[in-house]
Amino acid sequence: MSLAPATRRLFDGVYRTLFEQHPQPMWVYDANDLSFLAVNAAAVRHYGYSLGELERMRVLDLHPAADQDRARMHWRDSRPARKRTWTHLRKDGSEAEVETTSTPIATEGVDARLVVAEDVTERNRADRALRESKQRYQALVGDAYESICLVDADGKIIYLAPALHRMFGYEDDELLGLDGFALLHSDDVGRVEELRREILSKPGTTTAFECRARMKTGEWRWLQGIAANMLTDPGVRALVLNYHDVTNRRRAEQALRQGEQPGGIDDWIWELDLDGRFTWSSPAVERMIGFKASELVGRYFWELYFPESHDKVKQFFARLVAARSGWTELVQRLRHKNGSECFVETSAVPRFDGDRMIGFRGSDRDVTSKTKFEQRIRHESRRDPLTGLPNRIYFQERLATVLQRTREQVAVLFIDLDHFKLVNDTFGHVVADNALQVMASMIRSIAGAEENVARLGGDEFTVFVPGISGHDEARAVATRLLDALAVPLTLDGNAIHMSASIGMSLFPVDGNTSAALMRNAEHAMHRAKDLGRNRIQHFTPAMREEQARRLALESDLRRALANREFLLHYQPLYDAATWNVVGMEALIRWQHPTRGLLQPDEFIALAERTGAIVPIGAWALHRACSDLMHCRKVTGRDLRVAVNLSARQLQEPELLDAIRDVVRDTGVDARLIEFEITESVAMQNAEATLPTLRALKDMGVSLAVDDFGTGYSSLVYLTRFPIDTVKVDRQFVGNVMTDSSAAAVVGAVVALARSLSLKTVAEGVETAEQRDFLSRHHCTEMQGYLFSRPIHIDAFLRLMRDGDKGR
Ligand code: C2E
Ligand code: CA
Ligand code: CA
Repeated sequence: MSLAPATRRLFDGVYRTLFEQHPQPMWVYDANDLSFLAVNAAAVRHYGYSLGELERMRVLDLHPAADQDRARMHWRDSRPARKRTWTHLRKDGSEAEVETTSTPIATEGVDARLVVAEDVTERNRADRALRESKQRYQALVGDAYESICLVDADGKIIYLAPALHRMFGYEDDELLGLDGFALLHSDDVGRVEELRREILSKPGTTTAFECRARMKTGEWRWLQGIAANMLTDPGVRALVLNYHDVTNRRRAEQALRQGEQPGGIDDWIWELDLDGRFTWSSPAVERMIGFKASELVGRYFWELYFPESHDKVKQFFARLVAARSGWTELVQRLRHKNGSECFVETSAVPRFDGDRMIGFRGSDRDVTSKTKFEQRIRHESRRDPLTGLPNRIYFQERLATVLQRTREQVAVLFIDLDHFKLVNDTFGHVVADNALQVMASMIRSIAGAEENVARLGGDEFTVFVPGISGHDEARAVATRLLDALAVPLTLDGNAIHMSASIGMSLFPVDGNTSAALMRNAEHAMHRAKDLGRNRIQHFTPAMREEQARRLALESDLRRALANREFLLHYQPLYDAATWNVVGMEALIRWQHPTRGLLQPDEFIALAERTGAIVPIGAWALHRACSDLMHCRKVTGRDLRVAVNLSARQLQEPELLDAIRDVVRDTGVDARLIEFEITESVAMQNAEATLPTLRALKDMGVSLAVDDFGTGYSSLVYLTRFPIDTVKVDRQFVGNVMTDSSAAAVVGAVVALARSLSLKTVAEGVETAEQRDFLSRHHCTEMQGYLFSRPIHIDAFLRLMRDGDKGR
């Protein structure tokens, strides 16, 4: 990179390495004339200009004409760390949505600012996509959209199509939030309520009913409703009701039943002789199937149907003849004169001349949109919307059917993509969804039949392979899957490397029901994950024992808090300038009654999964604060206490109150508490986490990003969160003397953090060489075995008493 001489000094060393190699566009500019002083490779790639071109340009050249004034004001502004979102122009004229963070940096003579840019086009698109998915039901119901009502599980109306509002005689939105039953006729409530209970118990099914509803005018009208339970569909989460006014038809049927000729209705009415030939037809037939009434007289009724229906139509009339009365309904496909299809519902009664049956009278009504709606719902409710693969319910049904019939072995594979969450967090939902679709089609092509594959949700898939010779053949299929999934994907210019963990179970040896086979394959998959991912694992009964062990640990964990089995060890934090102890990190241990002293890696993950971490974490905070107060009494010094917070705790709405209680109960000064949050946790759910972090800051506590460098996140995240401290992960610290890229990362993180006025703590310092390297790079604090292991509070107090100098 060619640089202006003044900035060259600034960019020497590791700082420069980080800048150049940083995955996000970065530049340094002069706040007086807004010229670029330095630009990194990512910026060159992102904007499409050459380095030389950018160096002759001004920051304003990235902005469209309309934004010039706004941009000029912003880039001249001297307040630190300002964040903004812009539409930027690339050289080729294309637009990108970019979020920039600008920070003043110390340089001699020049008012320079460091800008980190992030292309958020994808992220914003993902947000939009999410909004669009909310409208999925619209796509789902197609033409029926105009007649849709959405209610929640309690029957409350959450959406009602404008046309329905008008039909009821209400203004748009007037009925929202209302109990749908309030509008029903009291004679119908019981029946509809019963149907509702039934359908609530069966996600993904539909049912049809008719009921009377009161219009605003007080008039009662008959409605036909088709209800679909889409409560579990992430894009809908409601009961979908499709309503049609059938009052006219009910009246016509009434009339027909009483032997009257109904008039003034839309339905097609006809009369046939005993052989099924038309003797009369109402003109409505033309609108429905294109024939004129006069064209039909003399023709057979059944001829109008598609051939596969002929027998059913004839049987329908045979039943009427046999019963000599009655009322039956038949839904079949009619052929329109132009060849297209049309679903009709036929109702008919025999006609008599005195006692003699002379023919039939009936009506047909078009139920095409209703039938198509039902078909679509039936299809959709068995499919995963993203990939079109069967869902869990359908897969289990299919597998159960196959198991009933086969005498051969069947393999069930449970596939879980490794680290998929990181793909989601790093590349955004749109790319991640694309990746899942590609994975789905890969799995489908290897499995052979699409119906033998399912996406269970998230990044989990299952496959069953019928008719296999045994274990080896099952493994061969799984190996082919693993190989196919390992081929790197390129999506939207990102290379994505995937791997998967596959668990396998075999029918009949590993289970004889679909549920058991799936469960055991899942156990095996978990085992594959534990063994390091990207592998295939066959189910063994030992896995059930492992599972049992895990369950036992889980129940022990539930009792551990009440039994006072937890304790804290403290590891001192040293100031890298004075080598005084300035703080301590609280690290939890579990004194298990039979297994001895357990380290956090043996139980923290489990505690997070079960939620036990919430009370345990609250206990740890309380303990740490009261130990801190004790320490203050004994030594007279105010140390900082670092307490680890897990993701689960951050999501807990009661977190802030719990902390306030601890502060009040122990009398600790909130400013002495620092919460450590791992990098991945902070970025996983940035939008949700940010308000909590801000509220924590408002309480006076400080925040540290733990294990920095292990996730995909970059220093941009440092400016996004209200943090005070960066803890460089011990992996990097451990490698600074042997691995030049680890050294560059550590040096660069420390330097950049410094320019953002953040403290840096290096953890896991084990050797004097590491310590000296970190000192040279102006790391603020250190922690590690070189100084002290985590120790009991009494030992910690002795250490303070005996002189705590780290050197
Ligand atoms: P962490 O927050 O990264 O904690 C630092 C870990 O590094 C500790 O492991 C510490 O013993 C270890 N360590 C410190 N100096 C050195 C060194 O020089 N060399 C090496 N090799 N290791 C060093 P520990 O105590 O096993 O804790 C492991 C993890 O468990 C912690 O990682 C933290 O994420 C979690 N943890 C510990 N206590 C709590 C807690 O109270 N709540 C929550 N949510 N998590 C906790
Ligand atoms: Ca920590
Ligand atoms: Ca750490």
